Amino acid sequence: MKYDDIIIGGGLSGLLCAISLAEKGRKCLIISQGQSTLNFSSGSLEFINTREGESFEQAVAQLPAGHPYQKIGADRLTALRASVAQLLGRAGIDTVGDKERNHWRITPFGALKQTWLSLEEMTHFQKEELPRRVLVVDITGFLDFNATFIASSLGKMGIKADTCEVYVQETERLRENDSEFRSANIAHVLDGYAIDRLACAINEKAADADLILLPAVFGIEKDEPARRILRMLKKPAAFIPTMSPSVPGIRLQRLLKQRFIALGGLFINADTVFSADVADGRIASVHTLNHGTTRFEADNFIFACGSFFSNGLKATKDKIYEPILGLDVDFEGSHGDWFNPDVYAEQPYMSFGVHTDNKLRVSLAGKTLENAYAVGQLLSGASPIKSGCTGGVSAISGVYAAEIILNQQ
Ligand SMILES: Cc1cc2nc3c(=O)[nH]c(=O)nc-3n(C[C@H](O)[C@H](O)[C@H](O)COP(=O)(O)OP(=O)(O)OC[C@H]3O[C@@H](n4cnc5c(N)ncnc54)[C@H](O)[C@@H]3O)c2cc1C
Repeated sequence: MKYDDIIIGGGLSGLLCAISLAEKGRKCLIISQGQSTLNFSSGSLEFINTREGESFEQAVAQLPAGHPYQKIGADRLTALRASVAQLLGRAGIDTVGDKERNHWRITPFGALKQTWLSLEEMTHFQKEELPRRVLVVDITGFLDFNATFIASSLGKMGIKADTCEVYVQETERLRENDSEFRSANIAHVLDGYAIDRLACAINEKAADADLILLPAVFGIEKDEPARRILRMLKKPAAFIPTMSPSVPGIRLQRLLKQRFIALGGLFINADTVFSADVADGRIASVHTLNHGTTRFEADNFIFACGSFFSNGLKATKDKIYEPILGLDVDFEGSHGDWFNPDVYAEQPYMSFGVHTDNKLRVSLAGKTLENAYAVGQLLSGASPIKSGCTGGVSAISGVYAAEIILNQQ
């Protein structure tokens, strides 16, 4: 089976790369092993943390030379940020976010966190626009969203935060088993009149609020249920992500996958690429666990396999390795040096990843593979938690690798 491009991994980086290529008419295949981290993410993408008054460019300039943003080049990043937002829009995902500066969102713990791009319905403010009085809405029995805790955190920032609890009849059957009472299952039953009744109950309690804050449990397939409750509420309202799984994250994943398939892409789910054939400095084909002796051939291969969390990287006591081909990996020191015992400190292992050149091409035993690229959390050089560049690196590198491939045609 011969494709123009084969993308290994169907998370944010793989999907954005594949969509960019498929939009230009290329025949693309995604092979993806399991759930991507989008399913746990907040519905907001982080580009980089900035200090007060600092621009994205100034923050990027301070990153180490091996960071993916440095490889891509500061001059490309502004355009790539715009491309990501437009690409999401074409997939039916409306976002808010300034190209030049962060906004703030509220986390499941009620903290404020800087972020670059948020789904339109999630909380998003500039610091000077913080609400003065909010109502945080809890759903009776739902343990993955703690309105009291969130209100207490917001109170410490000078926001007057009240809470209210609403009972949702439609969730009754989920209560039979505590493990069923999770955000994704709630989202499946919250539709139509259930939403309208919920909105009426909230409206009765929200007279004093400037802003209503809701758990993000609306709209797992499409955003209409989220839009519906926002329309029905008599006060401005926005969503806060719950603990995992994340309904907005799952929706993001589904809409991107749908967009890719609508463009003619083929998505093979629940299969694992386990080896590749290399000849003359190029990958010729890959093999998967479920397809026996089938050789999946392509002109280009994009490794979008994520980091340790998604099995894109693996560790033994004495090395970090990339499991498909043993691609060159950047890591330093021995096992004891990989972790900082202070869990809140920067963790060295987070910057380990597959080595690439500035075109994001990977290498094997020091030799660049001309038609193979790495994107996303698999890349070395980023320290995502410290720099706040998690989703940004994935989204931007995915679109950038597609650009490199397209420019070669
Ligand atoms: C719990 C959690 C929450 C997060 N929340 C946020 C957030 O709110 N905002 C943000 O910006 N970032 C967040 N991140 C960071 C997140 O990693 C990035 O935003 C981004 O989604 C990562 O995308 P990716 O494509 O690089 O990797 P992944 O999402 O890890 O996707 C990699 C995919 O490759 C597949 N794969 C791996 N090996 C193979 C193989 N051999 N064959 C086939 N398929 C394979 C995996 O199954 C997976 O589906 C979060 C991360 C985690 C872990």
